[in-house]
This record gives sequence, C-alpha cells and structure tokens, in this order.
Amino acid sequence: MVDFAAIRAQFPILDQEIHGHPLVYLDSAATSQKPQCVIDAEANFYRTINAGVHRGAHELAARSTMAFEEARAKVARLVGANAEEGQEEVVVTGGATAGLNLLATAFGNASLGRGGAAARRFALKPGDEIVVSKAEHHSVLLPFQELAYRTGATLKWFDLTEDGRIRSDTADEVITERTKVVAVTHVGNTTGAITDIAPIVRRAHEVGAVFILDACQSVPHLKVDFHALDVDFAAWSAHKMYGPTGVGFLYGKRELLEALPPANFGGSMVELAWMDQPAQYMEPPARFEAGTQPVAQVVAAGVAAEWMMSIGLENIEAHERTIAAELLKLGDIDGVRILGPRENVDRIGTVAFDVAGVHPHDVGQFIDAQGIAIRVGHHCAQPVHRHFGLYASNRASSGVYNSVEDAAALIEVVAKVRPFFK
Ligand code: PLP
Repeated sequence: MVDFAAIRAQFPILDQEIHGHPLVYLDSAATSQKPQCVIDAEANFYRTINAGVHRGAHELAARSTMAFEEARAKVARLVGANAEEGQEEVVVTGGATAGLNLLATAFGNASLGRGGAAARRFALKPGDEIVVSKAEHHSVLLPFQELAYRTGATLKWFDLTEDGRIRSDTADEVITERTKVVAVTHVGNTTGAITDIAPIVRRAHEVGAVFILDACQSVPHLKVDFHALDVDFAAWSAHKMYGPTGVGFLYGKRELLEALPPANFGGSMVELAWMDQPAQYMEPPARFEAGTQPVAQVVAAGVAAEWMMSIGLENIEAHERTIAAELLKLGDIDGVRILGPRENVDRIGTVAFDVAGVHPHDVGQFIDAQGIAIRVGHHCAQPVHRHFGLYASNRASSGVYNSVEDAAALIEVVAKVRPFFK
C-alpha cells in the first residue's frame, strides 16, 4: 500500500493557504508541482557539480556529463526506451512543443533533400498526407499544419466521438497509401480520454507512415512503454511529470533517429565543420541537442522519473483513477456538462466542464476564491472546444498529490456557481 498522504507531504508548495483556504491544486495538466527531491536535485547540481557536459577535461565536466547521461537513462527507463551508449533513444528537448517542432522541422529538411537517402522516408511532397486529430493540442496541430503548408502536403484529421474520443475505428479510411506522417495525442488534454492508438499505429505502419505520439498527458499518469506501443516517435515535457520547466524529451526508435536529419544547428552536434562544405553531424542523440543543454533541469527530471518509478506507475494510475471517479461527479451538478467521457474507463483525472450560462473566467475566479486552482480557457486546444460547440471551458486535473477530498471540495464549490451568478 502506498501512503499517498505521505507523498503529498513531499510537495512543499501545497502546504499553504490561498485566499484564506488551504490550497487545493487541480491544475496538473497545465503543470505539476515538484516534490522536494526534485527541487533539491536541481539546487544540489548547482551547488556541487555545475559544468558543461560533453566537453572540458576537468573533473566537474566529467561528473556533469555522467549526471546528465544517467538522467537520460532514468527517463528512458520510465518509458521503456533504450539507454545504452550508442543505442540511446531519448533526446533532450526544451519541452514537448520543442520536440514536436524538432520533428516537423527535421521532416521539412528531409523534404528539401537534406539528410541524404536515409532521410527520404521523412520527405513530403504535394499529394502526400499528414494526419492529426481534432483533439490535438496546438503543439501538435500547428507544427504539422505548417509542415503541410511548407511541403504542399495535405493535412487530414481524425474526427471525434460525441464525447471527444479520437475515432480510431476510422483509421483504415483516414490513413491512406498517401499518408506519410500520423501525429496524435495519447491522452486528450481537454477530454482526459486515452486514445486507442493500436489501430492507428497498425494502419500507419501498414502504409509506411511515421507514427508520432504526443505523450504529454500520458507519461505523468500511466505506465507507458513506447516499445510495446510500437510508436516511432513520442514527445513529452518534464514539468508535467513532477520535473522542472524548460525541458522535455523526444523518444525515437533508434534506426529512425539515425536516419533523421538535424533540425537545430550549432555547437555540440557536429563532428566536422568547414567553411566550404557541409558539416558532418554527430550520431543521435547529440545530433539533435545543439547548444548548451539545461543540465540541472535534466538531472532533476531524471530524479522525477526515478521518484515516479519508486511509487510505481500502476499505483499512480490506480490512485488517480479514484480521483477521476470523484471529479466525474461534476456532471451530476445541474447545468454542468463534462467535455469528455462520463464513464471512468480509458480516461485519466483530467475533467473539463462547462457551466451553463457562466463564463469560464467567472467560474475560475469563483473557484479560486476558495483556494482551488483549476485551469480556464481553451487549454491550447481550440478545435476540440469547437467540437463541443464552445470556445472555452473549465478544467480540473489531478496529480499524484491529490486526494478524493480535493475533488469533493471542488464539486462543493462548483455546485454553488450557478446559484451565485443567477
Ligand atoms: N501536448 C499536450 C497534450 C499538452 O497538454 C501540452 C501542454 O500543455 C503540450 C503538448 C505542450 O507541452 P509544453 O507546453 O510543455 O511544450
């Protein structure tokens, strides 16, 4: 049995009052809070190790490099990826958005003929298709929409069920012989729905397309194994999995990373550079990690990954399912509509809702006045809001530190919203 009250006590930020009430943080889909061990890891790195990685002959540089690579290995272990030297499958990025842009830019470079014959599998031309879904965060939609504009490819998308699930059952029709890239979310950041990706991955591979997973909202909450899921690439952010801001990770099957041309150029990613001929780039992951890396943050993200594994991903999943069950009672309140699956099946504890006749900003302020933090707005996912006939919504989202009582406190306050604004 995991003592989740003891886990909550590891988060110093939660031990405070907001507007005279104990803080209830239900905005983990935006960013998670950080346990003391993660906060300490970042500070300790600066106190004891701080040096650039992969360069410098001095001892601190060697320790820094070791800490950086050990962190990469811990993060790789969290998602079932390879970490052995020369076989690394996890690239350090500035976050999920940076990782997804890295891929779209690299595919664009391949479309210009960069990266030679090996990179041709990523090249797009007019008539080719890129497939996303209506449930995507703008960080997926926009880089791949721009890639379509740049290459002349056509952007297509999966439609959603009434309750906002990606229509995986239509994979055979949506993905065609012309499809080259498929990018979908593992868990909707508005609906909380877990995508049934298996039929989409299978169909993408059947037609030779590359499958990219947005794992931002799954890695923090579920046991995720990219090898078992057979995804080609996956992007996620450290700050949503109890790690620091400003860093994220991009998973890629090793053979694909080896074939992928770089997207960002500069120091630490090049073997040989000349004035009068193209540079010779390093092998992955260094090829994709141009410039000085956020070493302290990566080290702390490694500690976050280790910390999550020490609790057990199955335990985290089961705990958050109990909170999701409570949050879903929001739908029982008169005039409250849940934007996403109502049943507590194949979903996480991210529950967006609309309160009839009350603007989400008013709802958010009313709830904030009671010390409860939720997110309001379109959550960087306008198409899914349009699907529900809305521009914005309210969103409560759980983390490992939440309790059923937190969710119950929210429900009590939401029940008072409509009577108050009437
Ligand atoms: N994808 C999803 C599903 C998200 O929830 C987010 C974060 O809000 C992102 C992508 C982008 O992540 P980041 O802002 O950390 O780059």
